[in-house]
Amino acid sequence: MHYQPQPELLQNRIILVTGAGDGIGREAALTYARHGAQLILLGRTLSKLQAVQEQIRQLGLSPAAIVEFDLLTAKPADYQKLGAELASAYPYLDGVLNNAGLLGTINPLAEQDYQEFCDVMQVNVNASLLLSQALLPLLLKAPSASLIFTSSSVGKVGRAGWGSYAISKFATEGMMQVLADEYKNTNLRVNCINPGGTRTGMRASAFPDEDPQKLKTPADIMPLYLYLMGDDSRRKTGMSFDAQPGRKAGPAE
Ligand code: NDP
Repeated sequence: MHYQPQPELLQNRIILVTGAGDGIGREAALTYARHGAQLILLGRTLSKLQAVQEQIRQLGLSPAAIVEFDLLTAKPADYQKLGAELASAYPYLDGVLNNAGLLGTINPLAEQDYQEFCDVMQVNVNASLLLSQALLPLLLKAPSASLIFTSSSVGKVGRAGWGSYAISKFATEGMMQVLADEYKNTNLRVNCINPGGTRTGMRASAFPDEDPQKLKTPADIMPLYLYLMGDDSRRKTGMSFDAQPGRKAGPAE
């Protein structure tokens, strides 16, 4: 995407990123902070979140807060408690990036372990729903808010072996569309990003034989993440965006 964001695109915006300790979420958090945002870093591994927080501090940017939260094991009441805690600390939220994800095992659906299917759905779908429910009141208080979900190319066209992950990403696209329709007359826009093959730990476990140098880095795909979080996308809702349009799904060639 050829998008030139204003350096202060997200000045004073309050943005929560899930899975902010690693991969694309880490890069998104740092990128949003560099464009002026105040970050809430949510993830399950405290040391990784602390490293991102420290990097933001060393760059002299708006201090980031940490929420240590396991999206796999948290119960609905934990999300409501989190929503209440954030509501007492922040006047509103300008943006939420639902980025954390679980890949699961790549194998045929006939062999899919049921518990693992439930875990993938829990992190990729149920957690995004519960978090959205808990944070919608804060998003609706912002002058203009952006709720972003993370999809995948296998969330649009099924592919053999990608069972639970693909099903979870189709569900994510559906959740985005339903929410966008429900909030179409409000300040809140709801969209999906499909990052496309990107050089991260998850990608390496999905395609262990792939040459990572042939992949875009998380930093390369940030223009779309900025566009959808900032005011330039104010009128866009209910849409699914590709961070690497035209890229063929599957291993890098
Ligand atoms: P990574 O595995 O590199 O990072 C995922 C992040 O999610 C990590 O910070 C991880 O935490 C966090 N996370 C996982 N499970 C939980 C949990 N139970 N509770 C809280 N946090 C959790 O993945 P990517 O950066 O590659 O992926 C980011 C998103 O992009 C995902 O939704 C993925 O499906 C999607 N995507 C990625 C593509 C790619 O090529 N990389 C392509 C298409 C879609 P921890 O660091 O503690 O493990």
